[in-house]
Amino acid sequence: MQIGGMETGSSNESWIRVVNPATGEYVDRVPEGTADDVSRAVDAAQAAFDGWCKVTPRERGKILSHAAGMVRERHTAIAPMLTWEEGKPIRESVDEVRGFANILEFYAGISASLQGEYIPLGRQGEGLVVHEPLGVCGAIVPWNVPAIVMGWKVAPALLGGNTMVLKPSSTAPLTCLLLASLLEEAGLPPGVLNVVTGSGEVAGTALVRHPNLQKISFTGSTEIGSQVLALAREAGRKEILLELGGSDPMIVWKDADIPSAVVGAIRGRYYNTGQTCNAVKRLYLHEEIVDRFLEMLTAQVHSLRVGNGIDPKVDMGPLHSASQREGIIKVVDQIRNEGGKILTGGEIPLGTGYDKGFFYQPTVITEVPENSQALSEEVFGPVLPVCTYSTLQEALKMANSSRYGLGASVWTQNLSVVRMVFREVKAGIVWVNRHLTVPPEIPFGGVKESGMGRENGIQALLHYTRTKSLFLSS
Ligand code: NAP
Repeated sequence: MQIGGMETGSSNESWIRVVNPATGEYVDRVPEGTADDVSRAVDAAQAAFDGWCKVTPRERGKILSHAAGMVRERHTAIAPMLTWEEGKPIRESVDEVRGFANILEFYAGISASLQGEYIPLGRQGEGLVVHEPLGVCGAIVPWNVPAIVMGWKVAPALLGGNTMVLKPSSTAPLTCLLLASLLEEAGLPPGVLNVVTGSGEVAGTALVRHPNLQKISFTGSTEIGSQVLALAREAGRKEILLELGGSDPMIVWKDADIPSAVVGAIRGRYYNTGQTCNAVKRLYLHEEIVDRFLEMLTAQVHSLRVGNGIDPKVDMGPLHSASQREGIIKVVDQIRNEGGKILTGGEIPLGTGYDKGFFYQPTVITEVPENSQALSEEVFGPVLPVCTYSTLQEALKMANSSRYGLGASVWTQNLSVVRMVFREVKAGIVWVNRHLTVPPEIPFGGVKESGMGRENGIQALLHYTRTKSLFLSS
């Protein structure tokens, strides 16, 4: 763990083993943090706060920018760690590590937005608006995109003058630890960013409950997010950010460029083996294009190379854990029983290289009943249910029929269709002719049960500050 600038073990000297999802091999171990360790980390962050909040935003930005450069220089050394602990293909790990650097750089570049405002009020006098840091903030990170989610939380919080205690997932904590130590190497003072590894049940709840925390920023499942919300409210926490699950619809209109929409659907669904919050989890095709689309889609999905992500030729790695794969097997069995038609996949791959990892074939399913859980719940794996529609109203009704509302995409050349989807779809972000990508400039977050608050963009930075106004009468 990293507490107060020191590498440290857990107070009860216990450990968590990190296992490679492709091979079942031991990667490394991390301390199993306790409530006492969380308290130590919050104390360290509190002690560092007085100094850090007085550093100018420009100087804070310089450290983030320096760290971004170092991450870029060393990305080939960092990315394999992410593949070993999470399972994703190496090129996706490289993307993610570079994405972390982009986030640091974006926030470094907008440090001037913390300058505040001067408001002339004529004969009444003048006003001044400043953005003060909140204090010590807590961050809880999932395993699926640990570096990106860490960047989304750490960069705006630190630029805003806050200090932080971060708890990574217990199954993929190593990349977060590596990036945190690199930030310190880049000049971050000790205690400004602390990382406590450990289970959600012990370290996570201790962090959410800690009385000296000003904000908790949680990313993970909707189920755990609801528990975190209740705990945080009980602890009297005012600032709570929740980034939760999703079941994003992709709506393909009849005039879409089919080859590029097929590529978009494949990237949208099978990136990180389908384990992305804003993956394409439901595909809606106009009835006039369905046959052509499915023919191309099925052939390309069938040819995806599944294997150990450390091999650069692999397109799709294993699922992250045995329980993730169990969940997917159950979903596919259920859709089969409901009369769903599997066009490709639907099985565990057999043969050399597949026996020790949590592999599953990339799967496309049609004829899924409208009330199937595969359409209403979040399916966190490489299974794509496809539905057909005839009118845009029908597509929108189906797209909005989920309890989630993270993202949605529309694929068309028709601006009226874009307008209609943007206006009607219940989601925090709408893509046009793409899906998945979220540059740091674009605010990101969900509606309905996908969460509350926004990461990214200038909004996230301002949410890590408290606005204070001065009215100076003349
Ligand atoms: P998860 O099980 O909810 O865990 C997320 C984090 O919370 C982990 O660090 C976990 O620790 C911790 N945790 C577990 N129980 C806790 C508790 N009672 N109190 C405090 N913390 C607790 O989610 P996951 O399986 O890691 O991640 C996948 C989910 O995250 C999916 O639903 C995905 O859609 C969502 N996600 C959303 C976004 C977004 O921006 N909206 C981005 C990425 C992922 P342990 O690892 O020890 O369990």
